[in-house]
Amino acid sequence: MNKITMEELKSGMCRWPFGNTEDEGLSFCGKPSDPAAPYCEEHTIMAQAPSRRPKAT
Ligand SMILES: [Zn+2]
Repeated sequence: MNKITMEELKSGMCRWPFGNTEDEGLSFCGKPSDPAAPYCEEHTIMAQAPSRRPKAT
């Protein structure tokens, strides 16, 4: 998988985070994304997946 650092992250690139800030530092997906969307197609779907975050009822 091709990950990028925060410094390499630019608009038009997927900002889906990997890892965590306390260890090796946050890295990002970096795939081309729609300018109107923060994530690439794959991660837009993941962000919208209902199973990812339980709804508060
Ligand atoms: Zn992505």
